[in-house]
Amino acid sequence: MTSEVFVDVDWTHDLDVAKPAIVTGAGGFIGGHLVSRLRELGFERVRAVDRKPADEWYQRFSDVDSLVVDLSSMDGCRRAAEGAGYVFHLAADMGGMGFIENNKALCMLSVLSSTQMLVAARDVGAERYFYASSACVYAQEKQTTADVPALAEDDAYPATPEDGYGWEKLFSERMARHFFEDFGLDTRVARYHNVYGPMGTFAGGREKAPAAICRKVIEAKLSGVHEIEIWGDGEQTRSFTYIDDCVEGTLRLTASSSRDPLNVGSSEMVTINDMVSLCEQIGGVTLRRRYVLDAPLGVRGRNSDNSRIHAELNWEPSIRLAAGLERTYAWIHDQMTSTGESHPLALAATAR
Ligand code: NAD
Repeated sequence: MTSEVFVDVDWTHDLDVAKPAIVTGAGGFIGGHLVSRLRELGFERVRAVDRKPADEWYQRFSDVDSLVVDLSSMDGCRRAAEGAGYVFHLAADMGGMGFIENNKALCMLSVLSSTQMLVAARDVGAERYFYASSACVYAQEKQTTADVPALAEDDAYPATPEDGYGWEKLFSERMARHFFEDFGLDTRVARYHNVYGPMGTFAGGREKAPAAICRKVIEAKLSGVHEIEIWGDGEQTRSFTYIDDCVEGTLRLTASSSRDPLNVGSSEMVTINDMVSLCEQIGGVTLRRRYVLDAPLGVRGRNSDNSRIHAELNWEPSIRLAAGLERTYAWIHDQMTSTGESHPLALAATAR
């Protein structure tokens, strides 16, 4: 995080809102927010694509063409990409550490949609192609201590990414690069770092740490059992990126001329114990901590080095964890306690 004040330029002029924008994975967390922002920016034609049945999408918009299709097939990708100006490829089988450590083949099968969307975008002559990669591409031996130096883009090589999920992301971002070099498809790649916020998964097994911790604190408060289970010793570190910064970074990068992968991540590194304390403060409760040392943990420490995004885009994520968590906690609390019409995510939570 930098305290510098950026001289902002209006990057939105570099996107042509008259060109059709396709968002894959639009029924999911980040895709839903991206579709929402594209509408706000004035995009006239947005196609939202996901394989989930429409009533399970986290966000849906009546003025957006919503297409339910499985992008594992070439035919599905061609339907999705028809007439595309911009393609934002976010569809992937993914989840938090518990999910990706136990579903490596499933995560790697996302290579089908990642590959075929590139082919389909090339064949329709898409103007620009954005690929959602991940900090899981970074070499694991550079993340072995909690006070790890922040990861810069070159730290992805020599390659020893997260097994399964990280390998697929690294392969697909390289393929995006070669589609530019060999076929002229103008690609952009973001490496997202732990994105969180309202309208994200908070239950069911695919949730990530911020949402899981908010949910556990809320459950403890509601049940009166003032205890929380924490995976590992809680001293592992991460940085967490609020959804508004993630979407902003996605669009700024797409509008830019930066073809090399860029970190889109907060550089505010915290321990999981710190994050639990923040959630306790928000909830006004103090919980007994029970550490599960053999739970899936991932790397010991990870943070985002933002030198390159700062240099290339004159911008970096800046929303503080305390502010983002407060909004996330409030939304999850509403979902878990509201008696009105339930969000698909709240239904997943009650079905557990
Ligand atoms: P999400 O699980 O909420 O959304 C992904 C969506 O993709 C789901 O709705 C799913 O149904 C859809 N999908 C998966 N396979 C599909 C297929 N074959 N055809 C059609 N749709 C398919 O995940 P998210 O958090 O919104 O993540 C979006 C992207 O960002 C993913 O590529 C993910 O790997 C990447 N990413 C996310 C994070 C994070 O912290 N959330 C971090 C790094 C990278």
